Amino acid sequence: MVNLKINGIPVSVPEGSTILQAAKVANVRIPTLCYLKDVQCVGSCRLCLVEATGARGLVTACTYPVSEGMEVRTNTPAIRKSRKTTVELILSTHKKKCLSCVRSMNCELQKLALEYNAEEDRFGTDHDLKPIDDLSPSVVRDNSKCVMCTRCVAACTQQTIGAIGPQNRGYAKTIGSPYGVSLAHTPCVNCGQCVVACPVGALYEKSNVADVWGAIVDPTKKVVFFTAPSVRATLGEAFGLPVGTNVEGKMVAAIKQLGDIKCFNMDITADLTIMEEATELMQRLSSGGTLPMFTSCCPGWVKFAEHYYPEFLPNISTCKSPQEMFSAVLKTYYCEKNGIDPKDLFVVSVIPCTAKKFEVTRDELGHYTDAAITTRELAKMIKEAGIDFVNIPDGEFDTPFEEASGAGAIFGATGGVMEAALRTAAAKLGGSGAPIEFKEVRGTAGVKEAEYKVGSTVLKVAVASGLNNARKVLEDIRSGKKNYAFVEIMACPGGCINGGGQPYVHDEIRNSIDLKAVRAQALYDYDREKKLRTSHENPAVDTLYKEYFEKPSSHKAHELLHTTYTKREKY
Ligand code: SF4
Ligand code: SF4
Ligand code: SF4
Repeated sequence: MVNLKINGIPVSVPEGSTILQAAKVANVRIPTLCYLKDVQCVGSCRLCLVEATGARGLVTACTYPVSEGMEVRTNTPAIRKSRKTTVELILSTHKKKCLSCVRSMNCELQKLALEYNAEEDRFGTDHDLKPIDDLSPSVVRDNSKCVMCTRCVAACTQQTIGAIGPQNRGYAKTIGSPYGVSLAHTPCVNCGQCVVACPVGALYEKSNVADVWGAIVDPTKKVVFFTAPSVRATLGEAFGLPVGTNVEGKMVAAIKQLGDIKCFNMDITADLTIMEEATELMQRLSSGGTLPMFTSCCPGWVKFAEHYYPEFLPNISTCKSPQEMFSAVLKTYYCEKNGIDPKDLFVVSVIPCTAKKFEVTRDELGHYTDAAITTRELAKMIKEAGIDFVNIPDGEFDTPFEEASGAGAIFGATGGVMEAALRTAAAKLGGSGAPIEFKEVRGTAGVKEAEYKVGSTVLKVAVASGLNNARKVLEDIRSGKKNYAFVEIMACPGGCINGGGQPYVHDEIRNSIDLKAVRAQALYDYDREKKLRTSHENPAVDTLYKEYFEKPSSHKAHELLHTTYTKREKY
């Protein structure tokens, strides 16, 4: 351990720690802009400059290592002046459209400018307005607001995609895609990890809010929403509630106050996915089909495989994602049962994900979803409608899709799809007394492996989240080093609870808690409290099969609940 003092406060931290890490232990806040825990540490923004004995001049707290007896000052007049000037220089090349910016009141630069009394025009405004790239179905880039922190580049590099990077040199430097092409014309997988990393309004989702408001006031439309499992665990953050608060009841009540809307629970098609996927796995196992089988519910992962690992496309389950299953069920079964013309039903999915905006555009999925809005867009609609979200009494999901299992809910965390499938496989093959919890596949580790005896079958499984980890697993399978029966892959590190459409969380909070673990815990707590914890015991799913699909993997199920994949170029 190394002993030092930060602003006179004694602390002891492991050797090799940075001043920023030591400051956290001393409960001293040092501002950062380019630093983001688990994503990037380059010391380029110069906002975390501090004084430290033994160092020449000011040093960057995020990169400078502690040493025995060091004394650090974090808030001297010289430091405050330096930070003020830094913010003012950043503002000199920033398109200052704060009032109408998507990040207004939630912008890390705006917060720093306020804290350091920065004058927005001290160095004038000297930049050319750059074109906005909005051709991608998922992500919009406005380089005139970019502060060159490169957090997005680090996030995309960590995903092993590299669709964006610094272009040009010196004053002409910008962030963009190779040869200046639109993001839409790169192998971007639409995961939105760049968006949640961005501290300002330079990156945001392609919004569908106006389409949804339009449908709500259109007298010819019946509007139905369904909400993805993880949204209940994150939406509250957009209204100042603590990270990890389950707001399911408030979310449903608020959606119903947006207009004449029915609100359904997407967990039910997570259960339906398990029924179809487990059947497919058992068929592959018994008939010598292609193994390992990969999950298919993450459109970011699916597009990644289409670009980079097309040889594994036969391994991906043919099941559509829960979003696309729900929309197909609504536009067929639900419409037929309720005498609605499918063209009059406007289907809105509320998802944690920017990749699902791309997914709804895929022809092979039938275009059943009319609009996919992120957790952030739903929060925006609730705010626009003037709803007092924090104090709204709980509402309940509408029939006939209100019943869903805890297994469906944990789909939102890495390992959740695997655990849900194992619950059903264990019960079907292992009989009574089969376990419910499979803790080896839980947690935020990038790769998890486990082996289970299910009935007479030994199932070797793996779970990967984050595309860097997906690559490791795929390379091990390709080289023959590893051999699994079933593999879950989610594009976002930690799964959907950390998806690209989730509420923005400032670096200050992201750097001090394990965001992924705290959000996931809300889903596991929710699951533990449910009476119904296995997908195959869900009576609503049972009804769907009895009344419409007949049985898992039936002809009708294949027609509406399954899909195909397409090899894509790498560049
Ligand atoms: S959406 Fe994902 S793949 Fe696309 S640029 Fe952003 S981080 Fe990279
Ligand atoms: S787009 Fe956002 S995250 Fe990327 S460099 Fe610019 S400000 Fe930073
Ligand atoms: S992990 Fe979830 S949020 Fe991220 S791309 Fe996949 S489906 Fe979307």
